[in-house]
Amino acid sequence: MYRINPFIRIYEHEKVKALFNTLNLKTLYISQEMYEKILREPDKQLLEEKFVVNPNFNALDYFNECYPRQNDNSISVAYFLLTSICNFKCKYCFVESRIEKHDNALMSKETAEKGIQLLKRNVNQDNQTTIIFYGGEPFLNFEVMKYVVNRTLQLKMNVKFNVVTNGSIINQEIIDFIKENRMEVGISLDGTEKTNDQMRIDNNNKGTYKKIVSTISELHKNGINHGISCTISTHNLGKLDEIIPILEQFNIRGMGYNLPAENGNIVISEDEKQAMVKNLLEAEDIIFEKRIFEDRVINRRLKSFVEKKKWIKDCAGYGHQIAITPKGQVGICHGLWPDEINQKENTYYEFDVNYDGKITDHPIWQEWFNRTPFNMPQCWNCEAISLCGGGCAKNSFLRTGNIWNIDEDICILMKKVVPWIIWKYFDVKVKSEFNF
Ligand code: SF4
Ligand code: SF4
Repeated sequence: MYRINPFIRIYEHEKVKALFNTLNLKTLYISQEMYEKILREPDKQLLEEKFVVNPNFNALDYFNECYPRQNDNSISVAYFLLTSICNFKCKYCFVESRIEKHDNALMSKETAEKGIQLLKRNVNQDNQTTIIFYGGEPFLNFEVMKYVVNRTLQLKMNVKFNVVTNGSIINQEIIDFIKENRMEVGISLDGTEKTNDQMRIDNNNKGTYKKIVSTISELHKNGINHGISCTISTHNLGKLDEIIPILEQFNIRGMGYNLPAENGNIVISEDEKQAMVKNLLEAEDIIFEKRIFEDRVINRRLKSFVEKKKWIKDCAGYGHQIAITPKGQVGICHGLWPDEINQKENTYYEFDVNYDGKITDHPIWQEWFNRTPFNMPQCWNCEAISLCGGGCAKNSFLRTGNIWNIDEDICILMKKVVPWIIWKYFDVKVKSEFNF
């Protein structure tokens, strides 16, 4: 007797069934009658594509057949943490507890130069590397940012630049510099003035909304496209759509929702997380309609689903990234920049910019390289195994002491995102094309 492949998940919506193969993302949309028929007399294609299998089907062999092989282990992202100083003190910020924060550390040109040389020794020039300027507020060390950009271009490195800023510092020199170097810019904003200013406050305890929006307006006037990063936390739960009119006002086509950062000040309950996921997907519906790309949660996975290419790593930190602190320590994840809370534990910052080994051969990079749901037995039977990417290893590490444990935030979210994607694709593409 035939049976449904155990790696197929069946979803139902308005009398349509979606048979979703969790290991290769192929999806079959059929009616109830058709579903009953395929078990009795499956056609050749259904058998070949293993939606339906015969009694001899070996699940382990099939899993191995679908297991994604990774060939490329090169470094593709480098965070230059230009300073620990920030002129904001957002309540959820995870940089607030950094050890270097209390020294007001600024990266020197000498450290930056060593960081560039370290990067140069470790990248594959055939692939483009993204240099991300991060902090603290990276524009507080604009001199060194300029140094890194000019020096890497002088060395003819194959790089592009990205800056993550709070949007508080802007002038004509910065605008010209961003334009000239085609820098990608991500500005943080969490909603309307009332919402944003509950969490994002400056060092004088004043709200930051007006300043951020005036910077966005300046960039807009100067023709600079940029993205918005909206961090979800207790202040904007239930109001995630508030950001949309602001995106529309300035014709911003790219944004990302950051999942909650918990730093001791902010604790989000289980119920709040469930409500957050619901609200997030409602906001995603509106964003999708308006043709705005929300990449952090949806777009990257929707693209993978459509192209049938597994999304196995949700972050470059899984073996492809370095982060350099202002004082020249080197680690794998900017979020694990050694801090007071974790200073006695492994911080994953084991060497500095003088390191002369091959970074990707280092045991930390080797370990993180393999952290995909396909190597985590807890995930093998999950519907999201090929779309989840494993979430954030930093979250797993800080909460449980082990990067190999599940990141619960992404886990709660992905269980809802998978059916959202399956039915969004059905509504937009399949329904009319196949006359459902
Ligand atoms: S592990 Fe988490 S914080 Fe670190 S780079 Fe990846 S997503 Fe970011
Ligand atoms: S982390 Fe959770 S959602 Fe992601 S693959 Fe594993 S079990 Fe599934």
